[in-house]
Amino acid sequence: MATRPDGIVVAIDGPSGAGKSTIARLLADHLGYIQIDTGAMYRAAALLLSRAGIDLEDLAAVERFCSTIDIRLELVQGKQLVRANGADVTDLIRTPEMSLLTSRTSTLKPVREALLKAQQQMGKRGGVVLEGRDIGTVVFPDAEVKFYLSASVEERARRRCEELTLRGERVTLEETIADVASRDRQDSERDIAPLRQADDAIMIDSSRLSVDDVLAAMIAVCRDKSSTGGASK
Ligand code: C5P
Repeated sequence: MATRPDGIVVAIDGPSGAGKSTIARLLADHLGYIQIDTGAMYRAAALLLSRAGIDLEDLAAVERFCSTIDIRLELVQGKQLVRANGADVTDLIRTPEMSLLTSRTSTLKPVREALLKAQQQMGKRGGVVLEGRDIGTVVFPDAEVKFYLSASVEERARRRCEELTLRGERVTLEETIADVASRDRQDSERDIAPLRQADDAIMIDSSRLSVDDVLAAMIAVCRDKSSTGGASK
């Protein structure tokens, strides 16, 4: 197992709406680790590609463009900000349209290669909780702790609908179920780094669990890893 100066790598993968972001943030806070929301990075890349009007069929153009983009996650007063080429795009990347576009752009090899390198660089010292679709399988297959967080499509759509409504978006539960199911399909059927549970990941179904229950279960696993020498914090 790799030695990491700042602690272990915790990977949380799973489909959209399973509660990964909330849990990753709370777990990172608890451990004193950095949270890396890789979905936000894919969203920011999608936004930049669409703003620049890059033809997504032209992979050479996508590759050229991806070699110039700069996507960063910054913690400012307890809130994670997403910066794309210097601009704050935190809220702009969270619309249903951006979710669907991201599902498409994240199937493209040049996009994945660019972000894979950035994510490995960000997490290599350890002391990180990374959340996404391919963390335990591709980005950090040697992560000390891997979770696969899931929930039923209906439950995930219900949560997403609530979240979007709170943000003032007008969506129905039926539309959201269709969106969630369509993203599940795109994410798990793509050729490169599809959404998949790593063989050594611990599966947690959050359909009937509270955030506190999920967090407690994850903390127990991470603590166990620390006591066996896997974590340095
Ligand atoms: O997690 P979130 O829903 O914000 O991710 C947005 C999209 O980014 C996903 O639907 C997926 O297509 C893509 N993604 C990915 N690999 C990751 C994280 C996200 O392909 N590691």
